[in-house]
Amino acid sequence: MSEAIQTPAASPDYVETVIVGAGPVGLFQIFELGLLGIKSAIIDSLAQVGGQCTELYPDKPIYDIPALPVCGAQELIDRLLQQLKPFHATFHLGQEVTELRPLADGRFLVATSLGTRLTAGAVVIAAGVGSFQPRRLALEGVEQFEGKSVHYRIKSANDFYGQDLLICGGGDSALDWTVALCEKARSLTLIHRRAEFRAAPATVARMRELVGAGKMRYVEGQVVALRRDHHKLTGAVLKPNTGDSLIEVSADQILAFYGLHPKLGPVAEWGLEMEKKALKVNTENFQTSVPGIFAIGDINTYPGKKKLILSGFHEAALAAFGIQHYLYPQKRQFLQYTTTSPIMQQRLGVAPDSSPAGPR
Ligand SMILES: Cc1cc2nc3c(=O)[nH]c(=O)nc-3n(C[C@H](O)[C@H](O)[C@H](O)COP(=O)(O)OP(=O)(O)OC[C@H]3O[C@@H](n4cnc5c(N)ncnc54)[C@H](O)[C@@H]3O)c2cc1C
Repeated sequence: MSEAIQTPAASPDYVETVIVGAGPVGLFQIFELGLLGIKSAIIDSLAQVGGQCTELYPDKPIYDIPALPVCGAQELIDRLLQQLKPFHATFHLGQEVTELRPLADGRFLVATSLGTRLTAGAVVIAAGVGSFQPRRLALEGVEQFEGKSVHYRIKSANDFYGQDLLICGGGDSALDWTVALCEKARSLTLIHRRAEFRAAPATVARMRELVGAGKMRYVEGQVVALRRDHHKLTGAVLKPNTGDSLIEVSADQILAFYGLHPKLGPVAEWGLEMEKKALKVNTENFQTSVPGIFAIGDINTYPGKKKLILSGFHEAALAAFGIQHYLYPQKRQFLQYTTTSPIMQQRLGVAPDSSPAGPR
């Protein structure tokens, strides 16, 4: 298998290593591979990198990253991006890896929901707790409207101007879009299931001002049904938390921002040995049950596994050596220090005569 990989054809979509998942651990994998002179492409289903750190707790401080007594979660991601810059990895964001399979020549085909197709010498799965998916409206018949008049993310605000809008949710996305669209819509109703919001206080205050000025309506409660005229969405039925009477609102478009939840998704379908929704790996090089496919970070399991960023960073370092050996089995491996290795310093772009990510 490895021999075929040693002389990769000049195929434009060939990458030595494809990393699935751009959370903190996938990002650090780029760095560790880069130090060994191995190039990577990284793919994430989200439109931005950072995984759980960016998506779930960007403003929270992390206290257990070595040598950083305190570091904001987003700050950690920003620092990782800065650290991996010399290695010029290719980023494919906003697309889920839907297919991963070995090819006859020993490489792997990696295909995404947006139609990107790469061939890889090795693959690292750093998919965390899975790919983040929007929480859907749990209403009968909602499927026929999803993507047409029921939306979980907004591509272009203009699409909603001059229409009757119902916005659902109490976080930043719901409140930001309420404030942004209020004066552009024909009518706007915001519905949230409880009194507390998880959005910036200033935005909540602005929403209350708009309600006070009669420019929009706010309902504390839940959406219980959709109204339609044949195939067209016409409105929704709301059940307020107080009182028994239901409220009918007109709605051409419903924007539901109930947050994201991770879904293991396609990872479970790639024929890799799993245990409790995680990929089984060895602890020597974090290879899965399929040679050439490695798994690091929250997605893997082994005796004593702890789902910590620190553990994922260690796994990325050992996986890089495992990948180097897999791709180039004849190459002698020896440990080099970034403090003293001219070749690593050249790759990092810090040696006087360096060309980043230079010779191997
Ligand atoms: C609130 C909270 C606080 C935490 N605090 C700490 C802490 O203080 N210290 C600590 O060490 N850890 C902490 N953690 C845990 C830490 O965030 C995780 O261990 C870490 O994010 C794991 O990184 P990862 O790169 O393995 O996965 P993730 O961060 O989950 O990233 C995985 C990425 O893979 C993508 N992905 C998955 N499947 C696919 C696919 N098929 N195609 C494309 N992309 C895909 C996802 O979209 C995601 O972006 C905390 C977690 C939470 C929720």
